[in-house]
Amino acid sequence: MKLYNTLTRTIEEFKPIKDKKVGLYTCGPTVYNFAHIGNLRTYIFEDILKRVLQYNGYKVKHVMNITDVGHLTGDRDMGEDKQEKAAQKEGKTAWEIADFYTQAFKKDLADLNIIEPDIWCKATDNIPEQIDLIEKLEAKGYTYKISDGIYFDTSKFQDYTKLSHQKLADLQEGARVEVNEEKRNPTDFALWKFSPKDAKRQMEWDSPWGIGFPGWHIECSAMSMKFLGRELDIHCGGVDHIAVHHTNEIAQSEAATGKKFFNYWIHGEFLNIAGGKKMAKSADNFLTLENVFIKQGINPLAYRYASFLTHYRKPMEYNEEGVQAALNAMGNLIKQVIGLGKKVGEINIDYKNKFLEVLNDDLNMPQAIAVVQKMLKSDLSDADKLATILDFDKVLGLGLDKVKKEQIEIPKEVQELVKEREEARKNKDWGKSDELRDKIWKLGYLIEDTPDKTVIKKS
Ligand code: AMP
Ligand code: ZN
Repeated sequence: MKLYNTLTRTIEEFKPIKDKKVGLYTCGPTVYNFAHIGNLRTYIFEDILKRVLQYNGYKVKHVMNITDVGHLTGDRDMGEDKQEKAAQKEGKTAWEIADFYTQAFKKDLADLNIIEPDIWCKATDNIPEQIDLIEKLEAKGYTYKISDGIYFDTSKFQDYTKLSHQKLADLQEGARVEVNEEKRNPTDFALWKFSPKDAKRQMEWDSPWGIGFPGWHIECSAMSMKFLGRELDIHCGGVDHIAVHHTNEIAQSEAATGKKFFNYWIHGEFLNIAGGKKMAKSADNFLTLENVFIKQGINPLAYRYASFLTHYRKPMEYNEEGVQAALNAMGNLIKQVIGLGKKVGEINIDYKNKFLEVLNDDLNMPQAIAVVQKMLKSDLSDADKLATILDFDKVLGLGLDKVKKEQIEIPKEVQELVKEREEARKNKDWGKSDELRDKIWKLGYLIEDTPDKTVIKKS
């Protein structure tokens, strides 16, 4: 299995630390708002990575954190705490905010058929571990204290730029967006921030340095080492994490332990809105799975499918036509699968090998979809095609096995409403058609209109 490693900037053969076991850490959401579909693109890519590892026979231990404290409005340890700011805005406690958006995030994952991590870990549940790590760094002379916290001195860590491959001067220039005159170097980052003297924070803890809260980066170092032990194989996130978050994670972890932190660093490119504009949570103008797909009666798995059509290392542009095209393509795939009948034959080894070959070539999903299409058009028997596509679905995760079962299990009441809706559509009574679609949705079924057929799925 070959993967592009940001650390070496090459496509490398993947070799886990322990035979056939993989430790996978994926940076999770900051839970002060809903995840947008850009964030979700990253989580789909990570899900594919995990499924491909499993498809290759690896046993994956997957850890994902929940950032529920310490991520400030500026990425460079300045500004307000995103969590506490959202609490003020919404009139809830910071804890309630974290809980609410964590649940919303888990629903997004379920809607996209993303396999949950084996271990979820919250920053606020692991404060002693973070304090421990900072103490180790302090003992080794990597830290210093200024008026608002304890900082990591990046000039003391050799090779600070090894992940980003940027010149130190460029990284420092990037860090100057938020100037803190007391820092020794622009790239230095907070390990522990002090609570303000004049105000009480909702989330704060005692520490050897005074009452405060951990910096954003330290949680991922502390929790990945706690839960994965020495099996630090793969660490993932979006490309925005390369220059700051992951660079700082590497510096503080390797400084503390003297050992290499994670062998493979894999990053997913961004989802952009038209014109190459980045979709960002903090911009407050972002699209959610709920608004763009679910509320419109569009199966959210169409987004999963859409993301397959762009390689994870290439930027993907969001537009409505793209969504429609993916919806149609997925609808066609589902129709084809339904058309194969019920008999499950044998998995075709040639096609399985082709599928595996492109997946193992740095997760080439556009090519994997091409193999799926080719297989379905081939002269294999329907029963063998069905067995093969159901096997492929272990990676695709489109729930094709369920599609087959539900096809025969749609309740009478829903079937009647669907018929009524088809009638309304024929009469171009779009208002009634939408009303019926909502009714059907409330009964737990999603309607998808493909050019020549209406497909019904459990929502
Ligand atoms: P956050 O909740 O902001 O910490 O981000 C969660 C994950 O989404 C991280 O892995 C980010 O790198 C990633 N991410 C943020 N914005 C985008 C985007 N527009 N497209 C793809 N991934 C993104
Ligand atoms: Zn992280």
